[in-house]
Amino acid sequence: ANRVVIKIGTSSLVYPNGNINFSSIDELAFVLSDLKNQNKEIILVSSGAIGVGMNKLNIPQRPVEIPQQQAVAAVGQAELMNIYNHRFQVYNQKTAQLLLTRDIIEFPQSRENVCNTLEQLLAMGIIPIINENDTVAIDELDHLTKFGDNDQLSAIVAQLVHADLLIMLSDIDGFYTANPLHHKTAKLYDEITEITPDLMKQATGKGSPYGTGGMSSKLKAADRILKTDATMILANGKQPKIIFDILAGKKVGTYFYKE
Ligand code: ADP
Repeated sequence: ANRVVIKIGTSSLVYPNGNINFSSIDELAFVLSDLKNQNKEIILVSSGAIGVGMNKLNIPQRPVEIPQQQAVAAVGQAELMNIYNHRFQVYNQKTAQLLLTRDIIEFPQSRENVCNTLEQLLAMGIIPIINENDTVAIDELDHLTKFGDNDQLSAIVAQLVHADLLIMLSDIDGFYTANPLHHKTAKLYDEITEITPDLMKQATGKGSPYGTGGMSSKLKAADRILKTDATMILANGKQPKIIFDILAGKKVGTYFYKE
């Protein structure tokens, strides 16, 4: 894989107690920088704006009102980029911030603009860091809306830039026959070549208060990827070094690919 999109969820960036997981963020920066040095093109789709904003503003509970969430996200997004910039700088990498909305699906002109920007950044050797624009689009914050979380966004971006691989890092080892939180006998799927309604039924809600899409949103992203020639791998982001294992072809997580 030469062009790789990596999606990381809040649970990998912020501890359950609300503290920022600097070791995980640093490891991610280290791994992605190393891949860059191996001439891979890297795009990072990162959640975490609200979690980091809550930490920065000392807010223990996730706000309920949408405008409050948006305000916290606006603070957190700037802080998150600040953290990423610092960490990536250590490894001699430059980053850029792209805040996107689903305009990129609905409006061809917007899609083209985003595409051009991404291509130019990659050509310049810069690592684009993408998040949903929470100020403009409230979809990610509104858990009832089907579209717009970063799982979908990462798949859309992967499609847009014709990425070879989408690595989705979550708080779980992969996709199981049932949610392992509630079903101790659930078994991990090594590979999936088609998203069927039966599989969708095995995927349920999010794992942590910070989680967003839950497993069903990851399957929807996989469905999108399966319509292309790309591969998606769902793996545990607890240790971002797992990305090395994935690229070395080791058996980790769940592979989604077209047969
Ligand atoms: P993230 O914030 O890392 O994207 P989410 O909370 O959105 O994570 O989604 C991952 C969670 O999905 C898991 O922690 C798990 O509790 C839940 N889940 C539901 N169904 C399944 C399943 N069939 N296999 C694995 N995880 C599942």
